[in-house]
Amino acid sequence: MNQTSQVVVIGAGIVGCAIAYELARRGLNVRVVDRREVGQGATQASAGVLAPYIEAHDRRPLLDLTTRSLDLYDEFVARIVEDSGAAVQYVRTGTLEVAAGPDDMGRLRGIHAACVERGIAAELLDADAVRRAEPQLGPGVRGGLLVESHGFIGVAELTAALRRAAAAHGVSFQTSAAVTRVEGNGAGIRVETAGEAFACESAVMAAGSWSGHVEIDGASPVPIRPVRGQLLHLGWPAPPLRRVVWAPDCYLVPWTDGSVLAGATSEEVGFDERATVAGVRELIDATERVAPGAGNASFKEARVGLRPATPDQLPVIGPSAAVPGLVYACGHFRNGILLAPLTAELVGDLVIEQRLDAALDITSPSRFGAC
Ligand SMILES: Cc1cc2nc3c(=O)[nH]c(=O)nc-3n(C[C@H](O)[C@H](O)[C@H](O)COP(=O)(O)OP(=O)(O)OC[C@H]3O[C@@H](n4cnc5c(N)ncnc54)[C@H](O)[C@@H]3O)c2cc1C
Repeated sequence: MNQTSQVVVIGAGIVGCAIAYELARRGLNVRVVDRREVGQGATQASAGVLAPYIEAHDRRPLLDLTTRSLDLYDEFVARIVEDSGAAVQYVRTGTLEVAAGPDDMGRLRGIHAACVERGIAAELLDADAVRRAEPQLGPGVRGGLLVESHGFIGVAELTAALRRAAAAHGVSFQTSAAVTRVEGNGAGIRVETAGEAFACESAVMAAGSWSGHVEIDGASPVPIRPVRGQLLHLGWPAPPLRRVVWAPDCYLVPWTDGSVLAGATSEEVGFDERATVAGVRELIDATERVAPGAGNASFKEARVGLRPATPDQLPVIGPSAAVPGLVYACGHFRNGILLAPLTAELVGDLVIEQRLDAALDITSPSRFGAC
């Protein structure tokens, strides 16, 4: 045993970084261990869209989690910017979800009604109003729904700022170190890599799609599977988009530098992290269907990430049923960026105050057995 800290966080994606920062700013001594560099899992591929009423409007438990996390976002970003001294692109442009046919329009009316019921500012637009709002959208668009409170964040900047803010509160980051085993010994926890072992009071499993791969003594693996997502970064031809556009087959995120992220595929291909010709073609075709001028965009890059999915599509956040002191924070699937502030708060309350927030009733690892 050659290293000790109060908490070891396994995984330096957005979830692990947000948790490490939260625990350290609340006074704990924290170490983060990652088998790659910081933010190189699903996090680096993410579009950073913050849109509960698109992702979860018909899924009540997830809607409650995502709206609660969105409410924390302004303060979360302001604190990180202050503690890191770094700039983070964060804009609440609103989203324009567009309909390509009559069925889509009926669906948008349903979401609009749900927003109105919850007091969320939302507006239904007809085809002409959509094109006045976003002149780049093509004739296939029949109408749209504007949700003002949605937005997006520059994920690479956020992760870098979180790392700096965490380091300013004393967090140490150990990269190129894969955790192989976690063991509880009554007095605490032992976290092993190939070359080292760390003793700690608590450990947090935040290894995204790989969370079920670490051997945990006495526990069954958490059932998380990877869902590949490919995403394009494009130099967008004028005029610029004003807000996030969400179409049936793709979404477009307008960065303040005029470029656009076009996402995303959803593929059950195991741990294959390659960008493929078929994936890039699918995204280009979908983008041109909604915005015909996109054929003139320049190609900057294709990104790929593995979204950590659970059988019920809810995250796994809460104490291990098998190993005292081990906490799970994984399985955030399509919404890990959006859910980062809430996840960090829930884990902070649990580790520091032993407080079990009511939200943990639906995210508890025990719903999958002795994890
Ligand atoms: C194309 C795409 C677009 C997306 N768009 C959005 C979006 O718009 N909005 C949104 O909210 N979410 C979005 N997501 C989802 C979001 O990116 C994920 O939910 C989030 O990044 C998960 O973060 P994480 O920290 O749990 O996992 P990861 O970012 O995957 O981090 C896990 C970390 O654990 C490390 N690790 C793995 N095994 C070990 C080990 N044995 N030892 C040590 N370290 C280990 C990995 O190296 C990695 O750094 C998108 C995802 C994709 C792929």
